[in-house]
Amino acid sequence: PYPLDVAAVRADFPILDRKVGGDATVPGEGEGDTTPLVYLDNAATSQTPEQVVDAIAEYYRSYNANVHRGIHQLSQEASVAYEEAHDRVAEFVGADGREEIVFTKNTTEAENLVAYAWGLNELGPGDNVVLTEMEHHASLVTWQQTARKTGAEARFVRITDEGRLDMDHARELIDEDTKLVSVAHSSNTLGTLNPVEELADLAHDRGALIFLDGAQSVPHRPVDVKELDCDFLAFSGHKMLGPTGIGVLYGKEGILEGMEPYLYGGDMIRKVSFEETQWEDLPWKFEAGTPNIAQGIALHAAIDYLDDLGMGNVHEHESVLTEYAYDRLAEFDDVEIYGPPGDERGGLVSFNVGGVHAHDLSSILNEHGVAIRAGDHCTQPLHDVLGTAASARASFYVYNTREEIDKLVEAVDDARELFA
Ligand code: PMP
Repeated sequence: PYPLDVAAVRADFPILDRKVGGDATVPGEGEGDTTPLVYLDNAATSQTPEQVVDAIAEYYRSYNANVHRGIHQLSQEASVAYEEAHDRVAEFVGADGREEIVFTKNTTEAENLVAYAWGLNELGPGDNVVLTEMEHHASLVTWQQTARKTGAEARFVRITDEGRLDMDHARELIDEDTKLVSVAHSSNTLGTLNPVEELADLAHDRGALIFLDGAQSVPHRPVDVKELDCDFLAFSGHKMLGPTGIGVLYGKEGILEGMEPYLYGGDMIRKVSFEETQWEDLPWKFEAGTPNIAQGIALHAAIDYLDDLGMGNVHEHESVLTEYAYDRLAEFDDVEIYGPPGDERGGLVSFNVGGVHAHDLSSILNEHGVAIRAGDHCTQPLHDVLGTAASARASFYVYNTREEIDKLVEAVDDARELFA
């Protein structure tokens, strides 16, 4: 048995009944689709349940209007729903309230918001920012470039052979000149769950802030900003059953309060004259212009859905699948798996099959209806460390089953034979 009622979950995701294999130039159900879809690319983007699709449709069908400005009823309804979505997110991650929850486009924009609104003002020559070798480009490139612009130094904590952070190295790198530690809570390539509480202590002891990239943790396990004592946390709606176009930046209220706005314009102001402008209260100070209203409201629905399943169950379900996938793939002696053992990782397995390029592997898997990700997963420097340009990544979520992993393994075996 699974920790989740998978059949009931799957019934909420009609896309999982789709077949593939036909003409991929036609979006939707392609001509000639005959192979059942096995969707194992959840770390890139998860699927969307009916409840979330309904929330979007309901907004456009019955109360579509701009927020924060209208006195008319539709605008008020939209404003309440959009604002309550912030409250729901705050509750979900254990924040104090909507003041600490800024809606962005995605994790990447949340990283950039802090880089522009905090980094450009706070960093300078002699300062350093500590990252890790396993950062996603969203964090790595953002802080590398912010360091370059400000004259600060970007440092990278090494990983061990098992794909964990070398914490001795972290203790060496985080020093009195460190202003920020930015780290992936869970790696999107290695699956490693990083010791972020310890890193938060190291950062805070040196007077530095800690930014957690929660893109691969918040969708998959209970995450509480108070327990982790992080200063910032970023994540994306589209990786947690929500729509694209909506992401979250959590920030401690006092820190957000002290930051300059990132984008200027309407909605983020209280009073404007030709000479000067007063900012709106948090979080609106950081949400300039008309936001992604439907997407924010739909994120609320996605969180309700996940909470109904229970984040503990979500995590356990993925752990069962991940261990199973790891063990089955490890049976092939020509398959190299990256990262920690199967029972100590987030819900994904990245690997290579000897002699087969990850892209070729992925296209053979595609013929079996199995959707995985092949490439560098936006972690090119990490792949340099791993000594490979690309890897194949299978990633799991609440609707996946052991039978789907069996199909993955069969397809991998097929590719092995084809290229042998
Ligand atoms: N960080 C991590 C760890 C990720 O896995 C991703 C998505 N692959 C991102 C950041 C970026 O997310 P988004 O593309 O939604 O901005």
